[in-house]
Amino acid sequence: MDFRVCSLFSGSSGNATYIGTEKTHILVDAGVSMKNIIAGLKQIGVEGRELNGILVTHEHSDHIKSVGAISRKFDVPVYANKETWEAMESQIGAIAAKNQRIFDNSMDFYIQDINVQPYEIPHDAADPVGFSFYFQNKKISITTDLGHTNNKIIKAVMDSDLVILEANHDIDMLMAGPYPIYLKKRILGKKGHLSNVDSGNALLEMIKGKVTHVLLAHLSKENNYPQLAYQTVVEILENNGVKVGRDVLVDMTYRDRASNFYHIG
Ligand SMILES: [Zn+2]
Ligand SMILES: [Zn+2]
Repeated sequence: MDFRVCSLFSGSSGNATYIGTEKTHILVDAGVSMKNIIAGLKQIGVEGRELNGILVTHEHSDHIKSVGAISRKFDVPVYANKETWEAMESQIGAIAAKNQRIFDNSMDFYIQDINVQPYEIPHDAADPVGFSFYFQNKKISITTDLGHTNNKIIKAVMDSDLVILEANHDIDMLMAGPYPIYLKKRILGKKGHLSNVDSGNALLEMIKGKVTHVLLAHLSKENNYPQLAYQTVVEILENNGVKVGRDVLVDMTYRDRASNFYHIG
C-alpha cells in the first residue's frame, strides 16, 4: 500500500491537489472548474464519485471555486475550520448538513485511513491553514499561501517525506511588473505569499528533517516562471551544500495541468 499525491492544478489562477491511498481519495482545495478537476482526477484513475472529502485551506476564490459544486454532485463532505466555513459559506452555495465538517486547527482527524493534521499559516484570510497527511509511516505536507514561515510551520513540515511548498513570485519581476502598488505590498507582506528566495530558504530548514521530495507550488502567472522558481530554489540549496537530485528531488507543479503523480511507500 502506498501514499499518493498529485498536484492537479497549482497557481494564483486556481489550486487542487489529490492525496490518496488505495482506499481513500481526498482533494485539498477545489479552485478551478469542476470539469477541469474531474478531468484531472480521471488522468490519475480517480472518479469524482470516489472522493471521500474536500479539505479547504482558506476561502480565497483560487481555492474554493468548485468546492460546492463537487460536494453537491458527488455527495462529498467538505472539511474546513469554523472561520473558513463562515467566510466561504456565501460563495460556495448550500452544502448538505451531513457534508459540513468543521475541524479545529489544533486537533488531528481521520478521513478513512489518512490522518490529517492542520496547522496555522500567516496569510490574509479568515483562518488559513496548511495540512500534513499521515498514512502508515509516510507523511506528505502542503503549505501554500503564506507570507512568511516560522518555527511552528518548519516543525510541522520537517519530518515529511514529500513537501508541497509555495514559490509564488520573483521579487524583481513583481516589483517591475504591472500590479498596483497596494497589491505588490500585499503579496510581499507578512501575510502575503512566499517569494522564490523565501521558499529556498524555508526548504533549507525543512530538509534538515527527512524530506526527500519537494514540489514547488502556487506560482504567480504574472510574476514568476517555472524555470526561474526552480533555478532560484536549487541555487539556494546547492550553495548551502545540498545536492539536488541526490539529497532531495525538486519538481514543479503547473497552473494548467497535473504534476507528476507520486507514489510514496
Ligand atoms: Zn491561493
Ligand atoms: Zn490565498
